[in-house]
Formats: sequence, C-alpha cells, structure tokens
Amino acid sequence: MHETALMYDILRTLEASAEENNIEEITELKLVIGSLSSILPDALRFAFDSFKGSPPLAKDAVLEIEERKPEALCKSCGCSFTIEDPWKFFCPQCGGADIKIDGGEELYIEYYKGRERTVDSKEN
Ligand SMILES: [Zn+2]
Repeated sequence: MHETALMYDILRTLEASAEENNIEEITELKLVIGSLSSILPDALRFAFDSFKGSPPLAKDAVLEIEERKPEALCKSCGCSFTIEDPWKFFCPQCGGADIKIDGGEELYIEYYKGRERTVDSKEN
C-alpha cells in the first residue's frame, strides 16, 4: 500500500506549510489525484485516518479527494477531449489512437484550511 507512504509525505508537507503560515490546526484538506495514477482514494482515506493525530494538527480535518480525469489532444485531428474511461485512449472525433495525454497522474494538495495560531490578541 503505497498510499500510506504518500499520505505520510502529504502530512509532512502540510505540517511544514502550516508552520510557515502560522496555522495551528487544519480543518479541511482537499487532495487531487489523477484517475490514471495508481492511487486508490479509499486507501488514501484509510491512511489519512490511521495517521490521525500524528501530526496532531490534522486530527479533526475533513478530507476531500477529487479524482481528476486527464485531458487529451488528438494528434490526428487536433481535437481535445477529456478521457472519461481510463482504458479508452481513443479520439472521440476521428477514432485515432495517437493522442497526447495531459495530466491524470497527479497527486497534489489543492488547498487546505486551518485555524491560525492566535498571536497577541489578533483574532479573526
Ligand atoms: Zn482525432
């Protein structure tokens, strides 16, 4: 399950970013994974839950995962389209298989929200 390792890295990244941005607690986290990556959203969720509390800053965070479909460009007719089915790499317009795929293997943090550490009496 490489999702565990991936989630570990994500949390480390978050931790560093939160520290930089003076965030003491993360409340929401959104990840984007490409539908062509071999990452399973459920396994990622499971890993997230098992890491909860370590680091503690994300223990109550709501995790949202979006699977993003890759965009493709047909080299034969030039039409661009979204690959809906990861097993069908054909141009819907001309049926050509000579296509350029853009994306689909990504994994990144789209955004996260958190509560800022209160410094002095600066609140909200
Ligand atoms: Zn085409």
